[in-house]
Amino acid sequence: PLIMGIETSCDETGVGLVRGCELLGDEVASSVEQHVRFGGVVPEVASRAHLEAMVPTVHRALDSAGAKLSDVDAIAVTAGPGLAGALLVGVSAAKAYALALGKPLYGVNHLVGHVAVDQLEHGPLPKPAIALLVSGGHTSLLLVRDVATDVQSLGDTVDDAAGEAYDKVARLLGLPYPGGPHIDRAAREGDPRSIRFPRGKWGDGTYDFSFSGLKTAVARWVEDGERNGSDLSVPDIAAAFQESVADVLTRKAVDACVEHGVGSLVISGGVAANSRIRALAEQRCAEAGVELRVPRPRLCTDNGAMIAALGAEVVAAGLPPSTLDLATDTSLPINRPLAV
Ligand code: ATP
Ligand code: MG
Ligand code: FE
Repeated sequence: PLIMGIETSCDETGVGLVRGCELLGDEVASSVEQHVRFGGVVPEVASRAHLEAMVPTVHRALDSAGAKLSDVDAIAVTAGPGLAGALLVGVSAAKAYALALGKPLYGVNHLVGHVAVDQLEHGPLPKPAIALLVSGGHTSLLLVRDVATDVQSLGDTVDDAAGEAYDKVARLLGLPYPGGPHIDRAAREGDPRSIRFPRGKWGDGTYDFSFSGLKTAVARWVEDGERNGSDLSVPDIAAAFQESVADVLTRKAVDACVEHGVGSLVISGGVAANSRIRALAEQRCAEAGVELRVPRPRLCTDNGAMIAALGAEVVAAGLPPSTLDLATDTSLPINRPLAV
């Protein structure tokens, strides 16, 4: 079946078309430039932009897939978690398409979509797999026995998400929003060993993470440097910060694979685009004999294909469709791939 996926949880309007593990169309309209001057996503601005982008993005996705609306067999949409007003635009559009086409509607979980998208790049997910989800709002380590029906959280961040830490540290360093890609780029010119920043919850026997202490350590380093009039090297700070994040994330993810006897690790979410996390994960997975799967950066950040990919799995699992009174859920828990 041909699945159309609609994503509007944050500031990307995404529409994807997927058949099984095959990606046929993937169009994203982002309102990120409209948020830059505020240093973060403004919910009302994002909702408004989704409203304007929705229908044109659906048609661009259909065109790029060489398909017509009437070819679509089912519609999957992000029901949560995300911004209330933003989610509402996508869910309303999905309901309208489902009703008009007479096709089933599936309200799915954005976070699980970040994991499911890997199938479009590397084929069917091994069962089970460990997934490290690192995005703007979330940082979780997951045991995924079945992406449509059985996702279990092993650990979470106790404070900031990894992406949030990148964005806050970028601001401290005077780099633009969103900060992740800027820190990644600056770090290439820096020495990760020039400063030793703390590794939150390192070796604490849990799969939880903490990034607020690291952020504070960077803030203090910058303040001290400014007070002493010393020459602050943004590339060195960026590289040392990035090393701390990559070190803890990849260490705990590989430990989870070993402890649970799982042979495959998926890393996904916007922060999985990070070059140092990718490189360190590759090295440590190779040492541990674990297969590493990281989708290409375009699929790691928010898009509609990830929602279609999860929709395809939900349909294949034979789960019942959502009804037309499907509600948005801004804090949909990760252990529910399908919203009820
Ligand atoms: P969530 O999925 O939790 O609702 P979100 O959808 O806003 O949050 P994503 O779009 O998955 O998050 O990811 C955005 C985050 O990824 C931002 O914090 C951004 O700074 C970060 N990011 C993007 N590219 C990189 C990179 N190369 N290195 C580090 N972080 C990055
Ligand atoms: Mg975004
Ligand atoms: Fe996301």
